[in-house]
Amino acid sequence: MEKHPCYSPEAQHRYARMHLPVAPGCNISCNYCNRKYDCANESRPGVTSEVLTPLLAQQKFIVVKEKMPNLSVVGIAGPGDALANWPNTREAIERIKESNPEMIFCLSTNGLLLTEYAAEIIELGIKHVTVTANCLDPQVGAKIYRHIFYRGQKYEGVAGAKILIEKQLAGIQLLASLGVLVKVNIVMISGVNDHQIPALVKKVKELGAIMTNIMPLIPAKGSAFAHLPATNLQELEQMRDLCQIDLQQMRHCRQCRADAIGMLNDIQ
Ligand code: SF4
Ligand code: SF4
Repeated sequence: MEKHPCYSPEAQHRYARMHLPVAPGCNISCNYCNRKYDCANESRPGVTSEVLTPLLAQQKFIVVKEKMPNLSVVGIAGPGDALANWPNTREAIERIKESNPEMIFCLSTNGLLLTEYAAEIIELGIKHVTVTANCLDPQVGAKIYRHIFYRGQKYEGVAGAKILIEKQLAGIQLLASLGVLVKVNIVMISGVNDHQIPALVKKVKELGAIMTNIMPLIPAKGSAFAHLPATNLQELEQMRDLCQIDLQQMRHCRQCRADAIGMLNDIQ
């Protein structure tokens, strides 16, 4: 944890991270999502200039590590979902382990497939997993998630949200019980899920998460939430202060691109 710039506010000033954009597809549809490519001026999750094969990711890692000795973490954060593209994610991590066994690996996921891949995650030695979970109530979930694809079937509205929430909570509990440091990202969408956030933070704490990262909504152009206002930053801080009573809050997240490289304060 002390070498992971996202898990430790002190480490952000000493260590760099590299996101490998090897996971283009996603198995759910969030209303705030708009994955884009070739959009070098935009910085937010889901954006990347390119999608890499695991081999190209390994080659890029070798070049970057040469130039950046303080690179401590390699993460797979999209531009889609790390677990929905598991063969790519796994191969990229295996290749980088071959090149540098000391690297810390990190995944970020919507959590739908966490229980399915938990054993492989542990086997690969991944100790840091971030799950984005936004609510406990499927009625609220139906306003955030259009649909999910699970075991070859599409589920919409409340039915999809119910499965997703159950899988997220079960996955958080399972991974935490296996010794993984689980961080939960929560997108604060005013008027949609903000009233449920304190209860969600309490719940994930009970399941073993070590930290939550309550993030502002970025109303991305082209997304279904493009018309919503961005989260008020003062209200966001108040929410973090309230939830801090229950669980450690990350307050230095930069909402990085899926191909971000460097220290968190670098413009990427
Ligand atoms: Fe987009 Fe991530 Fe939601 Fe998938 S899980 S739809 S990539 S925001
Ligand atoms: Fe860390 Fe936040 Fe950037 Fe992810 S998006 S690498 S948690 S700072």
